[in-house]
Amino acid sequence: MKKYILLVALLTIAGCKNKSNKDTNGKLKVVTTTTMITDMVQNIGGDVVEIQGLMGSGVDPHLYKASEGDVSKLFNADLVIYGGLHLEGKLVEIFEKMESQGKKTVAVADAIDKSELISSEFFASNYDPHIWFNIGFWKKITLHTTEILKEQDPEHANIFEKNGAAYIQKLDALETEIRQIIETLPADKRILVTAHDAFNYFGNAYGFEVMGLQGISTATEAGVQDVQELSNFIIEKKIKAIFVESSVPRRTIEALQSSVNSKGHDVIIGGSLYSDALGNKGTAEGTYVGMFLYNVNTIVNALK
Ligand SMILES: [Zn+2]
Repeated sequence: MKKYILLVALLTIAGCKNKSNKDTNGKLKVVTTTTMITDMVQNIGGDVVEIQGLMGSGVDPHLYKASEGDVSKLFNADLVIYGGLHLEGKLVEIFEKMESQGKKTVAVADAIDKSELISSEFFASNYDPHIWFNIGFWKKITLHTTEILKEQDPEHANIFEKNGAAYIQKLDALETEIRQIIETLPADKRILVTAHDAFNYFGNAYGFEVMGLQGISTATEAGVQDVQELSNFIIEKKIKAIFVESSVPRRTIEALQSSVNSKGHDVIIGGSLYSDALGNKGTAEGTYVGMFLYNVNTIVNALK
């Protein structure tokens, strides 16, 4: 009898352990934060994992607060994948609490060596978190995420491996294509003025000088002084176009535009760029690859 009870207890423990890695429908339950991360994990995980993205199109991760529903999604997940470097500034405490409880959380920024990151005193983590704008980084992050998924769900390791490799190929093709598009823009016109400092990795990787009206995070507003300085810069460099961002209110860039125009230089709003969130689901810009191409085409066409 005693032996029987022990066996039942062991089976129950084994059952629980199994359950902690898999959902009741047998799928690994992954919760992601930004749309860029959700898209990448979907590319690697395919339909063998269940992915829930917390943030939708047009959502600013710097300001995003978790709802009660989000908190329960996070705590019920088998695996949580987020950006890190305080990109999701208001979720940091939740992630810390989850880690202290032994929940599996992964910051994709950990795939990049700190020496490759842009240091910034303006941001809480001391590093610029907009790492998805370097496609080389995104490839490293894809490899890292593939390994994590294989660890968490070894049964589907082959699928993750195959999907991950296919996604890297897509990213390689994207990089070749955007470099060709950028080549058509004269080097002295490669100056990008946007609403907030999201594009510094993009600038470093693809040869643009980048000026953001707000700091690294949208949590800090641009002051009158910032607008004045940047408008003088635009006039001095004879810049044709500046850009709004889909996840940041237009008003700061519109204020900059009127400041420039009032000084007698015409600057247009060259379009709306996707910075911290992808476009609508089901559209080309709703994917990382489509978003990147859209941004580069918009920038190059407006600055030509
Ligand atoms: Zn940002």
